[in-house]
Amino acid sequence: MSFKSLGLSDALLKAISKKGYNTPSTIQQKAIPLILERKDVLASAQTGSGKTAGFALPLLQILNSEPAYRKRPVRALILTPTRELAAQVQDEFKEYSAFTDLRSTVIFGGVGANPQIRALRNGVDILVATPGRLLDLENQNALSLSKVEILVLDEADRMLDMGFLRDIKKILALLPAKRQNLLFSATFSKEIKKLANEFLHHPVLVEATPENTTVEKINQTVYRVDKTLKTDLIIKLISEGNWKQVLVFTRTKHGANRLSEKLEIANITSAAIHGNKSQGARTRALAGFKEGKVRVLVATDIAARGLDIPLLPHVINFELPNISEDYVHRIGRTGRAGASGEAISLVSLDEVGYLKSIEKLIGERLETKTLQGFETTETMADVKEAEAEKKRQKAQRHGRGRNPQAKQSTQKNTKNSSRSKRRR
Ligand code: AMP
Repeated sequence: MSFKSLGLSDALLKAISKKGYNTPSTIQQKAIPLILERKDVLASAQTGSGKTAGFALPLLQILNSEPAYRKRPVRALILTPTRELAAQVQDEFKEYSAFTDLRSTVIFGGVGANPQIRALRNGVDILVATPGRLLDLENQNALSLSKVEILVLDEADRMLDMGFLRDIKKILALLPAKRQNLLFSATFSKEIKKLANEFLHHPVLVEATPENTTVEKINQTVYRVDKTLKTDLIIKLISEGNWKQVLVFTRTKHGANRLSEKLEIANITSAAIHGNKSQGARTRALAGFKEGKVRVLVATDIAARGLDIPLLPHVINFELPNISEDYVHRIGRTGRAGASGEAISLVSLDEVGYLKSIEKLIGERLETKTLQGFETTETMADVKEAEAEKKRQKAQRHGRGRNPQAKQSTQKNTKNSSRSKRRR
């Protein structure tokens, strides 16, 4: 199938060929014709599937085929959960619209509002925005949403995870009732279905198995290792493998900072990217990583979502995510566009439960290795004990009484980790 056969105009085909795309991806093949027919679409697609072009191309085609208003009010609104994703979506819009007369701009928080207000004043056909800044600027009358014909919710599941539901509802109330709605989400949770029911009109469901997450293309390995030896192990893997561009996931912002600092000490250039970093710091880190000046980008799940870094050779889970779907998102950053990639997970005793849930989700047992000098000292009994301990702690947090054994087992774990430290 070709882009031409999807009914796209010459101006868009020219931009597509300039980008070097030959064939439309699955999501593009399925979504583009439906969007051009002006259907509401509920699409399951992840980062890496080509979803952005899947909605951007037909949207541009629709807007370009209609007579433009003189003052260029916003006619298409794309909401994204993160600033990075907003910027990337806007970059793609710019490239795809290069041979049309359409204008787009992006607004997000964390940076000064004045340049954004000026861009809006000049008139834009397409606005890419994060919900908070959009509502701020709307409150200040810096923009009007009364002429929006097409609404896109990009990575809707992540928007809900980040607590944007209220903002989304406020935004929906500002839009004309008659409009086309497109909802893109990596997962279809109950909440997503509820949201979809509330604002999509007879949506057509489009599902695309994400090309980038097919396990055949990604070489997945698990290293079982004690928690205290993870940093040493990651330094060894990166140095001895001479890996140049590595994306590392940690579970917390704090953990991302700590690991990045330790990598720097080991002479591995590194930057952390997470929600507490300023927009400038995040942009610099990402640019440095793309240019090859930063060898390792350490990121949290939310910060990494939507980062457009094609053909990433190595992804390392320094810690496994506690939400199994996030594992699939994370490893989807490697092996893109048909190239093979490597996803490595460092799994310590307390994460064995997460590993099992992930294996269940992806329907396969992951190859597990241990490196010489990094053999785990924990036994299955320790694993069970740690899991029980976690349950006890959870019960305590939920106020279901205290268990005197909890303290003992914490002491036991501490003993284990000092054993690991000594061995080092
Ligand atoms: P996305 O899923 O929208 O984040 O896109 C992932 C990456 O795939 C981006 O770098 C796009 O530029 C690229 N891409 C999108 N569509 C195609 C295509 N049909 N062929 C090759 N690459 C594509």
